[in-house]
Amino acid sequence: MVEKDKIYDIKIDGLGSSGEGVGKINGFTIFVSRAIPGDIVKVKINILKKNYGIGELLEIIEPSEDRIEPKCPNVNICGGCQIMHMSYGAQLEMKRKIVEDALTRIGKIDTTVNPTLGMDNPYEYRNKAQFPVGVIDGKAILGFYKMGTHDIVDTEYCHIQSPINEKIVKIVKRYIEDFSVKVYDEKSRTGLIRHIVTKAGFTTGEVMIVIVTNGRDLPQKNQLIEMFKENIEGLKSVVQNINTKNTNVIFGQETITLYGEDKIVDYIGNLKFHISAQSFFQVNPTQTKVLYEKALEYADLSGNERVFDIYCGIGTISLFLAQKAKEVHGVEVVEAAIKDARENASINNINNANFYVGKAEEVVPRLYKQGIRADVVVVDPPRKGCEESVLETIVNMEPKRIVYVSCNPATLARDLAYLDERGYNVDKVQPVDMFPHTSHCESICLLHKK
Ligand code: SAH
Repeated sequence: MVEKDKIYDIKIDGLGSSGEGVGKINGFTIFVSRAIPGDIVKVKINILKKNYGIGELLEIIEPSEDRIEPKCPNVNICGGCQIMHMSYGAQLEMKRKIVEDALTRIGKIDTTVNPTLGMDNPYEYRNKAQFPVGVIDGKAILGFYKMGTHDIVDTEYCHIQSPINEKIVKIVKRYIEDFSVKVYDEKSRTGLIRHIVTKAGFTTGEVMIVIVTNGRDLPQKNQLIEMFKENIEGLKSVVQNINTKNTNVIFGQETITLYGEDKIVDYIGNLKFHISAQSFFQVNPTQTKVLYEKALEYADLSGNERVFDIYCGIGTISLFLAQKAKEVHGVEVVEAAIKDARENASINNINNANFYVGKAEEVVPRLYKQGIRADVVVVDPPRKGCEESVLETIVNMEPKRIVYVSCNPATLARDLAYLDERGYNVDKVQPVDMFPHTSHCESICLLHKK
């Protein structure tokens, strides 16, 4: 019997879906944040539920051979990187194993999962950063929220973000202090500066800075812009977004351009994308290219195919495939994303991509009823996976190949099992590390009609 508040020694032998270590006490499952497979740890049971407990890591009795000293001093208080204390090689193998375990355990699919495609340099990979702004004892602080709270931890340098952020953060701090600009306080809902959001084009070097404010009037804004212009190489855009609502959502409705353009440009492969303050763009462009090149390889297009890209977002995969297909049909529920997809098609002179706004489970069956069939189908669903009606319609369309891009191994396994039972063989499973040091586990799979 495991008891609450008691202290136990346990061996960690797995990893939970949020990157916590998992071990057992007499067969009873315990989750331990910051512990990794191979560690033997001393934990105090803080929470006890019917089927599992949550242990607080008190001491590492014997470290896993995969344990390393993390680069970041804030790793234990920030919720961002859950597995930075694991060597990168071990992270990649662990992600492969998570996918393999899900496929065998949930999907009952017997297939080999390829070694995870990782990054040469698994740091400074994010092109977008969002800093909440606060003040302590008259000093401005910018950083991230302490895990599970809204307490801001001051961070000068985040190892997974673009290095340009360090300079931007310093300028914003100086601006707030020199001009006594009020920062937003969530409790009293007073003060002005709420968030700083930065975006960087990794191929073009272009930089966008977004200042999110609780109100319109930005004091000494010309001085602020001058400071940015003098110090930030590649600066293309400074915009102000106004958000006066009492909400955790970062952006408000209105965005005003203060300097330069209202967007920056970046490339993935040979494709050009416009990135605005609020538009979605893949946050790790380097690995996005790796993933989409796999999608292209698996789709194996000759130029005569009709391709579906279901859950297409801003159409990145669609446009990649359109260059090699006869036509591509992208389906996505967010209207703004489809607007971006159409614009992205147009700036790349791609004329054989059609985009449909709506729920996949409504749009895809409707297109099927209209007699539209697909030779190749790509799906890239959110964490909950594909609706059964989407999978059913795909099977009815009888495509030669299905390419499944997944951010959740559990729902991937469930959906592959469905497709496997209905005539599709799982040929290849390839994890791609999109988010080093975090527990996110992305993979791409190829299925063919038996
Ligand atoms: N393929 C895209 C991103 C896919 S992320 C890319 O590579 O950039 C998953 C997408 O599915 C999101 O854009 C989300 O808005 C969309 N989505 C979620 N539920 C949906 C539904 N029921 N029907 C269609 N799209 C949906």
